[in-house]
Amino acid sequence: MFKLFSIMSKDIGIDLGTANTVVCSTQEGIILNEPSVVALLDEDGRKTPYAFGKEAKMMLGRTPSKIETIRPMKDGVIADFRVAGEMIKYFIHSVNNSKSWFGPLIIICVPSGSTPVERKAIQEAAESSGAREVFLIEEPMAAAIGADLPVLEPTGSIIVDVGGGTSEIGILSLGGIVYGKSLRVAGDKLDEAIINYIRKNFNLLIGETTAEKIKMTIGAACAPLDNSDGAVMEVRGRDLNDGVPREMVLNEKQISEAVAEPISRIVDAVKVALECVPPELSSDIVEKGIVLSGGGALLKNLDHVISEITDLKVFVAEDPLLSVVNGIRKVLCNMKTFKGVLFKQN
Ligand code: ADP
Ligand code: MG
Repeated sequence: MFKLFSIMSKDIGIDLGTANTVVCSTQEGIILNEPSVVALLDEDGRKTPYAFGKEAKMMLGRTPSKIETIRPMKDGVIADFRVAGEMIKYFIHSVNNSKSWFGPLIIICVPSGSTPVERKAIQEAAESSGAREVFLIEEPMAAAIGADLPVLEPTGSIIVDVGGGTSEIGILSLGGIVYGKSLRVAGDKLDEAIINYIRKNFNLLIGETTAEKIKMTIGAACAPLDNSDGAVMEVRGRDLNDGVPREMVLNEKQISEAVAEPISRIVDAVKVALECVPPELSSDIVEKGIVLSGGGALLKNLDHVISEITDLKVFVAEDPLLSVVNGIRKVLCNMKTFKGVLFKQN
């Protein structure tokens, strides 16, 4: 049977994160979820993309000298425009291989701290992969919509999205961002802090992938609330004295000490944001509390620490790693309602 829709590609939304790229379509929900990583092959000085996503992430820290892995969005800014563009196009092509007449409409989020030049580059990469139309949305706005905050209403909401490279703090009301801050302290900085702590205290060198695993397994934003040492984990690395592999057991209390500094920077930024809002909005926030999203929201007791310091209720969004993409999908499915939160970069 002839279907009108078969001449149109499915419309897609892209959460272009510093750590993970998640793609959804209106009909199917999430259709791609891959690390924002590209492996480049160096052929006599000319670097060409060799692998993207999961395949490239597996190579992190394990590459021979001819291959280099990079995260083009690492700090919430585009480190390498060409590679970032290639990555965006690769992900779009891998979900949109239909031979339809019209390309998809694409909504893609941009970090609130990105410059007009970066926004334009992201938009153009999506356009050049065959989209019929591309809209941008600010990341905290998408996260807040995904977390079901009433962003269009005349009431203040605050979202704190802790990703890999950046933590985005947004205070929203009436479809706009009243206060936005992109802080370059998030999951990656916690991993780095864990690496430094283990090297300094135990003379053991571990890689980024191991550090991330430690954070996810026994990491916490504060020492265990029952005064114990908390969960434990066996960790392998290289002894810096004799250079041989060594194994040791670490606990949750130690890791909470390791990450204390970057955690306090995130919490301080939330405090500053709260001090910057007009009083009407702050009374809305006192009533509703703070919502945490992004993968970093899964860090044990982060909600507790922010709540203690701000004296506000703190909630972790359902499925925090997917708040942004869920928000974009909601916008895609309700374009009329949400059109005010979308924009194009000239
Ligand atoms: P981005 O939007 O910047 O791509 P994400 O929202 O995808 O980032 O979150 C990725 C970050 O969340 C990574 O730093 C990852 O280590 C961290 N993360 C994921 N799961 C957990 C967990 N269970 N505990 C702590 N951190 C986590
Ligand atoms: Mg994100």
